[in-house]
Amino acid sequence: MPNTLIKDSATRILQVNPLLSYAEIGRLLGVSRERIRQVANGHRRNSRSCNVCGKQIRLLDDGVTQTAYYQRYCYDCWLAEKERRRKAHRQDFTCEWCGAHFSRKAGTVRRQEELGLKIRWCSKHCQGKWLAAYRRHAQAGC
Ligand SMILES: [Zn+2]
Ligand SMILES: [Zn+2]
Repeated sequence: MPNTLIKDSATRILQVNPLLSYAEIGRLLGVSRERIRQVANGHRRNSRSCNVCGKQIRLLDDGVTQTAYYQRYCYDCWLAEKERRRKAHRQDFTCEWCGAHFSRKAGTVRRQEELGLKIRWCSKHCQGKWLAAYRRHAQAGC
């Protein structure tokens, strides 16, 4: 089998299952482990292991984005990490009118606070209702 064909096949196998050893790939293709190591070397260099679970990741893997790859996360760990970051960047509130739980971006909360405002309602709608009720109370003098 010519080296180019072995390389192509090994590359394709590695794309499907990056965790296979050279020996296993060699067995699939009917060539020695050493041949696979030689032709696949350049390719494997592009793989790195996930920071979290240690799984081998490559840019070509399904769902592995550039960001995930360069920050060393496999697909599953990247999803978990994104969720963690999303939470870290959001703050939870309870609407003072309807009682709904909602979240706002941390940056938005900070800007509001700088303006001396507090986030108290889930929507403009609830804000309007609350203010109307507040004004009625104020007019009634209680
Ligand atoms: Zn992982
Ligand atoms: Zn509300």
